[in-house]
Amino acid sequence: STESDTSIFNLEGKFGAHHYSKINLVVRRAKGCWLTDDKGDKYLDCLAAYSAANPGHHHPVITNALLNALTGNYASVISNVVFTDSLGIFLSECAAFAPQLAPRFGAHGNKVLAKNGGVESVETAIKAIRYYGFNQKGIEDGKQEIVVFNNNFHGRTISVVSFSSSKKYKDGFGPLLPGFVSVPFGDLAAVKKAVTPNTCGILVEPLQGEGGMIIPPKGFLKGLRELADEKDLFLVCDEIQVGLGRTGKRFCFEHEGIVPDGLILGKALSGGLVPLSVFMTNAQVMDMIFSKGSDGSTFGGYPLACVAGAAALKVFQDEKLDEQAAEKGARLKQRIEEIGKRSPYVKAVRGLGLFIGIEVKDGNAMEFCRKLMKQRLVVNDSHGHTIRISPPLVINDEEMDFMVERLERVLVP
Ligand code: PLP
Repeated sequence: STESDTSIFNLEGKFGAHHYSKINLVVRRAKGCWLTDDKGDKYLDCLAAYSAANPGHHHPVITNALLNALTGNYASVISNVVFTDSLGIFLSECAAFAPQLAPRFGAHGNKVLAKNGGVESVETAIKAIRYYGFNQKGIEDGKQEIVVFNNNFHGRTISVVSFSSSKKYKDGFGPLLPGFVSVPFGDLAAVKKAVTPNTCGILVEPLQGEGGMIIPPKGFLKGLRELADEKDLFLVCDEIQVGLGRTGKRFCFEHEGIVPDGLILGKALSGGLVPLSVFMTNAQVMDMIFSKGSDGSTFGGYPLACVAGAAALKVFQDEKLDEQAAEKGARLKQRIEEIGKRSPYVKAVRGLGLFIGIEVKDGNAMEFCRKLMKQRLVVNDSHGHTIRISPPLVINDEEMDFMVERLERVLVP
């Protein structure tokens, strides 16, 4: 096939800031699990926009809900200073979609604060944890500490990169924000040691997505929950990447039978069609933390996002995306493990649901991703050493056969 349209690469190269290391593929269309490039060639999407496309690209129910909102003229940003038909509906459905968060405060239901990109809701969560420390625990304002984990990924705003382990995210962007204590992921003893009288909470990814598709030891989240109960810490799970069915459960924390105090969702919350993220917690706690004017956003919870969000939550439940991920993920992981056993390149295969990582021996996963691209699989690396397999959760058997056959070609010489 001929080279892709270089004028498009040139435009982004000339006028766009460097951010992602790009793959030379121009995607013109996306539908279900398939991406079509500028030459009409089809690629199987094994990345699903890092979980944003969990229900498949352009899911008809979500797309039609958006089209209705646009043609009905109720989709533009009005202002959160007035009420709209869509915000309350989305918030109530989202609140009921999660179990009672922070149940020690009582069965008041959950409240939801809507934002756009995922990192904005991480910022909201950081504010919430700090305020909890100040108001609930009496920690002096400015002295609050939050325990976070090495190799975390929560986004790239200045406060979030302040506690990143990655030099490239933060070097030269100082002054960075104090108040974060980072400990090894999965190390409960280190968390216990890091807790001081100024610790107000813990911010954790139940599985690390960008950190190399890392699954912590069994009992880790449970241990965090017990510690949080014992020390009155506000435990927040960032489920932006691993929530909403990705690991075979509605929420990843369910694998350990725990309930966090705060929850962050994003990416697939709108089915990947418009930016939408939320921070949610027990209604009583949300009311204690945020007063009128203490938070807000022009686009956060705007009609188009809320319409997409409500439709995506319906699709999730109607199509049982969590059960689909559990069932298909178990079969896919087994087949990939088989390939791993026969491959001279594969060091380890790990995963939960349709969140599967193939760690390669020489640590250069991107080289394999490029070879897989030539075989019409869109994949990306995680943390340099791991090939990330996270297709839309609606992937069918034929598509899984296509994927496995290509993985075999590249990984078993
Ligand atoms: N938190 C986690 C766990 C993520 O995986 C991501 C994105 O990959 C983010 C936060 C940031 O979300 P966004 O890129 O939408 O700001």
